[in-house]
Amino acid sequence: MSTGKLYIISAPSGAGKTSLVRRLIAEVENLVVSISHTTRPIRPGETDGKDYFFVSQAEFQVLLDSHELLEHASVFDNYYGTAKATVEQNLTDGLDVILEIDWQGAQQIKAIRPDSLSIFILPPSTGILEQRLQDRGQDDDAVIARRMRDAVTEMSHYKEFDYILVNDVFERALTELKSIIIANRLTKDRQQRNLKKMIEALLSSS
Ligand code: GDP
Ligand code: ADP
Ligand code: 5GP
Repeated sequence: MSTGKLYIISAPSGAGKTSLVRRLIAEVENLVVSISHTTRPIRPGETDGKDYFFVSQAEFQVLLDSHELLEHASVFDNYYGTAKATVEQNLTDGLDVILEIDWQGAQQIKAIRPDSLSIFILPPSTGILEQRLQDRGQDDDAVIARRMRDAVTEMSHYKEFDYILVNDVFERALTELKSIIIANRLTKDRQQRNLKKMIEALLSSS
């Protein structure tokens, strides 16, 4: 059985990564997104266990102490972390897995899994980024101001990523994101594993 590919997607808050990833996993088969744990308060419209596992600081600490997290970071004064077991099981099952995480988590994952591929999503401008955060209508003005301040720090790490894309026209960014995943599935290494029997049959017929 072939193992899946691990993808890291980072972007400043409001750039559109959650919207893009939601469409991506709906439209590309054998692709899943890892559900993070967070100590941030749940937003209206979010579901525990679907958008995040919402946990207390004490519960997060237990996960850390028992080494159940693949990576973790403090983002906007809250803790966020990726559960190790689910990601590893999905990869073993041959699924491609997406981590929607910040630059600190991206660095940790690249260090432990250099074969992962990372994608950074840029907004077309800071004005548009702020507009999207406002239009999303999920965060109050203080939270938006904090996210805008941290956006520059997040974006300053773009060079550490393998792919850079701009989420200006949504459908175009979605196509670009899909292209990365699909192109990777066509690489020789993966195709040799996936098509082993077929290639053997082709080469043995004389
Ligand atoms: P949103 O990205 O604006 O929807 O805001 P969230 O509160 O959902 O997430 C805030 C930031 O935390 C995001 O920009 C992610 O990059 C980051 N994040 C989410 N989950 C994780 C995780 O499991 N690990 C790490 N390191 N960062 C995460
Ligand atoms: P993130 O997960 O990066 O914080 P979201 O996916 O929540 O971002 O997107 C932030 C807001 O911007 C949402 O209201 C979303 O509908 C909107 N949005 C995302 N991409 C685009 C785009 N290309 N054009 C216009 N609005 C967008
Ligand atoms: P505080 O907000 O008081 O700094 O931390 C809240 C809790 O989260 C503490 O118990 C802390 O140990 C824990 N925690 C979770 N992730 C991290 C981390 O990445 N670094 C640190 N220092 N503490 C973390």
